[in-house]
Amino acid sequence: MNASPVAHPFDAPPAPAEMREVAPGIHWIRMPLPFALDHINLWALDDGEGGVALVDSGLGTDETKALWASLFTGPLAGKTPTRLVCTHFHPDHMGLAGWLCDRFDIELHATMREWLFARMLWLEQSDDFIANQLRYYRRIGFDESQLAGVAERGNSFRNRIERMPVRVIGLRHGDTLTIGRHDWRVIEGGGHSPEHACLHCAEAGILISGDQILPRISPIVGVWPQQPESEPLSLFLDALSRLGELPADTLVLPSHGLPFTGLRTRVAELQAHHAERLDRTLAALTEPRRAQEVLKALFRRELDAHQMGFAVAETLAHLHHLMAQGKVARDLGADGVWSYRRA
Ligand SMILES: [Zn+2]
Repeated sequence: MNASPVAHPFDAPPAPAEMREVAPGIHWIRMPLPFALDHINLWALDDGEGGVALVDSGLGTDETKALWASLFTGPLAGKTPTRLVCTHFHPDHMGLAGWLCDRFDIELHATMREWLFARMLWLEQSDDFIANQLRYYRRIGFDESQLAGVAERGNSFRNRIERMPVRVIGLRHGDTLTIGRHDWRVIEGGGHSPEHACLHCAEAGILISGDQILPRISPIVGVWPQQPESEPLSLFLDALSRLGELPADTLVLPSHGLPFTGLRTRVAELQAHHAERLDRTLAALTEPRRAQEVLKALFRRELDAHQMGFAVAETLAHLHHLMAQGKVARDLGADGVWSYRRA
């Protein structure tokens, strides 16, 4: 296996409302995010005479819309969007999908499960949505003030999505999208979102990786209230193995951070990261513990309510993986809260 270290051929991102060409006809756009993770990378791919295909949309905010407007009077002036491809349903990727598709009368291309989940969450205003959130976090052992926060946040996804397209062109693993003079093969990811699409162009040696593989941070792999018994870490590790089979000199275009080479090294680093977290999770179970106690072995800093939701989801992903391996067992206590012990 080639073990080239991770390297970044471009040392700085494009400024807001600017574009940088990372390969012939493949352009890098960056949009701000109002979170600790403060940006997302989007891609514009030349698509025939005067056309441009967009990959991911940015968060559903006025700021992102204004930056798109600047792009279309600036570096994209005279270009006609041909389609929007979204890697997955998260709001920083699909937040402006409806707005862009309506504005340019183009079609959203996404895998069916990503589009369905986004459309469902965007329409979701039912009482049983909140009831299910509360049931889930009660079983994890959230206290009354944490549960009040869950109820108050409600469906936070909805607020970050402008609107979701009513139709989609469904992508499947193995499909080929011909965009301009390049063929892009859809590679299904997993573990981070239901049916994450990565796009690989063998001829250009480029992988648009979305959030499936990132250069510095490890993508969130979590168990969520809509699928409380899921085991996403196996899906994530399987997807990493698939990506690790791509040519060693692939240039990876991730949704966060800088483009990088050294894909196989990064795959190995992420595999080692999760192996180490699984060890720490098991080591924390010197006695039966609740998820929020195990979490302290994985996240040693103070967490706010928003971060706590992600940390719990990630801790459960590791616990469920160990349960699937038969190393950990789960019991539902008389108080209705799960605890975990070594099996
Ligand atoms: Zn994501």
